[in-house]
Amino acid sequence: CAKQDGKNRYRLFDEHVRDVIYRRKQIAENIRVASENGQFSMAYMPIFRSSDLYIHKVEVLLRCHSAALEGIGPDEFIPIAEEFGVIQNIDLLVIETTFRHMYRHQKVFNKSDLVVCINISAKELNNVKFASALKGLIKDYRINPQNVQLEITETSLVEIDEQSITILNEIRETGISLALDDFGTGYTAFSQIIKYPIDCLKIDKSFIDDLHSENEVKKTLVKSILAIAKSYKLQTVAEGIEKDEQFKLLKEMGCDSIQGYLLSKPISWEHFKTLLQDQDGQGNVIKIAN
Ligand code: C2E
Ligand code: MG
Ligand code: MG
Ligand code: MG
Repeated sequence: CAKQDGKNRYRLFDEHVRDVIYRRKQIAENIRVASENGQFSMAYMPIFRSSDLYIHKVEVLLRCHSAALEGIGPDEFIPIAEEFGVIQNIDLLVIETTFRHMYRHQKVFNKSDLVVCINISAKELNNVKFASALKGLIKDYRINPQNVQLEITETSLVEIDEQSITILNEIRETGISLALDDFGTGYTAFSQIIKYPIDCLKIDKSFIDDLHSENEVKKTLVKSILAIAKSYKLQTVAEGIEKDEQFKLLKEMGCDSIQGYLLSKPISWEHFKTLLQDQDGQGNVIKIAN
């Protein structure tokens, strides 16, 4: 009968919710163990200038090496870790680890205009202490803020309010620049971009995926994004370039920089250093001591 059906459906829903919660708890516990065992590291993903393929930026991406978390990426485990409080403020941890690394490898960073891009979660925009913590770290590790860009996903800006804008402005006052990540996945009207104090737009991979096919709609959209960005003097990066044709098109359309498996996957620091050394051979000024 209908009543019985309804009950069954409720029971199935209930079981599903319980499974989801159980899985998240399990992941959180695995993250706690992984962090105790030092199973986290950073991968470095080069960002290339389209005009000459010079590596002028690098994005830091968090990696977990625990077998128990295999197949679970940072976009899934970071929110869980923060929700369950198993790692206190991962963003500041990643920033501090990166700054320490930059301090240790000053020779690489001081002699070049390499910009290190670090992802932060939207929740920092509700955290009034974030900017002062950031300032403290800049001072402690003698970081040149010009060498740092923070990335915030566009979707997270949906709920942006006056306070978040204040925090974004405070971050920028330190000299650190800001990028709007995964642009196109949220609902920001192009004309609203100007409301945000940002320096760079990162066009999401979903816009790039079938750009090389006969998809004129995608092409027109990407062209418009680039035109708007240019009119606001924003830098542009296209994410997730996997095919040569995509790169050619984006270069033609005037996209400043590109990032994607076509040119490099996220790699180890050692590997990244050799890439920098290689471009040094092409007449650039980076000198790297081992
Ligand atoms: P994101 O910031 O948009 O980073 C780009 C993601 O796209 C990376 O995945 C990168 O490996 C992937 N990607 C780049 N080019 C290609 C391509 O050509 N093909 C394919 N298939 N993938 C490509 P990853 O490392 O899994 O990171 C996922 C997301 O997790 C990041 O997206 C970022 O939002 C978040 N994340 C990563 N590290 C951190 C971190 O330290 N802190 C915070 N708050 N978030 C992080
Ligand atoms: Mg990013
Ligand atoms: Mg992105
Ligand atoms: Mg992303």
